[in-house]
Amino acid sequence: MFDKVLIANRGEIALRIHRACREMGIKTVAVHSTADADAMHVRLADESVCIGPAPARESYLNRAAILSAATITGADAIHPGYGFLSENADFAEMVQDHGFAWIGPSPEHIRLMGDKVTAKKAAIESGLPVVPGSPGAVETAEEAKTIAAEIGYPVLIKASAGGGGRGMKVARDASELLEAWSTARTEAQAAFGNPEVYMEKYLGQPRHIEIQVLGDHYGNVVHLGERDCSLQRKHQKVLEEAPSPALNADQRAAIGKVAVDAMKTLGYRNAGTIEFLYENGQFFFIEMNTRLQVEHPVTESITGIDLVREQIRIAAGAPLGYTQDDVIIAGHAIECRINAEDPETFAPNPGKVVGYHAPGGLGVRVDSGLYAGLSIPPHYDSMIAKLIVSGANRTECLMRLKRALGEYVVDGVKTTIPLHQRLMDVPDFQNGAYDIRWLEKFVAGDL
Ligand code: ADP
Repeated sequence: MFDKVLIANRGEIALRIHRACREMGIKTVAVHSTADADAMHVRLADESVCIGPAPARESYLNRAAILSAATITGADAIHPGYGFLSENADFAEMVQDHGFAWIGPSPEHIRLMGDKVTAKKAAIESGLPVVPGSPGAVETAEEAKTIAAEIGYPVLIKASAGGGGRGMKVARDASELLEAWSTARTEAQAAFGNPEVYMEKYLGQPRHIEIQVLGDHYGNVVHLGERDCSLQRKHQKVLEEAPSPALNADQRAAIGKVAVDAMKTLGYRNAGTIEFLYENGQFFFIEMNTRLQVEHPVTESITGIDLVREQIRIAAGAPLGYTQDDVIIAGHAIECRINAEDPETFAPNPGKVVGYHAPGGLGVRVDSGLYAGLSIPPHYDSMIAKLIVSGANRTECLMRLKRALGEYVVDGVKTTIPLHQRLMDVPDFQNGAYDIRWLEKFVAGDL
């Protein structure tokens, strides 16, 4: 097992990784920007190294600084968390070339899944059902027209290098196609430095359902069930739950098996998430995330499996040690992402937290680096905490979530806690009757 792990991230996920390491008897190195010198994970880690100024590209994305920090502290592995360099295949390769273990999948798999066109081809070849669309990149406007006519309107133009919903444009009919195609390309070029786009049938009312997988170095793969992440705003997840209110045990086992077989075909190892849209009883692959995800705790709650611990064990060469039959899905869990934002306008609201009280009690987990006196820097993502509740069933979970949200106090900055509180009282949400567009309508007052 590793002796020392460097955590190449910040915020709640850096703390989450530190906690797993501490429980495994592994020492931790926190790296941080000047803006995060007082962060909780920096305080708790065994060692810390300042790797640069506040802007992420000069610190959390500064590969040379991170590798130097790993060298001088004698770390033997690097955990990238999510975001930042977590899905950067070149960085994963550099980490390994410098003699450190990379706590994640192989650089080849990161690269394959990082480009949506190659990912979709790999998905088809390994037996995953995909959204009908172009066979590959769509190079010309003429080609876009022909393919759209074939798959039928509405169509979605998506960036091959996409992420965070950028470079995505809908064309409802032929008259909107050319503009959608060229705007998507311009956006993709601006956001990712790559104008390549592809096309998919635009699904009207799907749910977003994703399958968590774990694979070791010896060909063993299991799935840990699904997460329903349909509650989204601007393609960003707001609240996630597991199991999905839309699936039964047979459907879960069936899609789980398809996912596991695909990962075995690909030779995938470590943790990964296969994202699907789900409509009319059918699953359609949209992308694979080759990293730990923000919403991983809901899976941990219903399986009792510590995903970060598993990632570390796998990276150290340990076999999975259990089979699919040993994975028991029990109870229900919901996660609320809490952002430092105005709950009405969603304008970021960083600043100093003057008072802080986290909820607790049975079945309540808070993953957050917040404390009274901490200044939330304006330079990074606005998510400041995750509230995760679990219960014997969904009804118990909802009661508990409402109770826990009511106890949560964050004074000094505006947060999205009131948005989550409003959601708790809406029948559609209570009944689990929502798709990926529901939350936007709710927020706009259109329901
Ligand atoms: P990104 O990597 O930019 O997040 P994804 O492919 O994961 O891109 O898609 C993000 C979100 O966009 C999905 O969760 C869904 O809400 C929407 N979306 C993606 N593909 C389609 C599609 N074919 N039809 C309808 N909505 C889609």
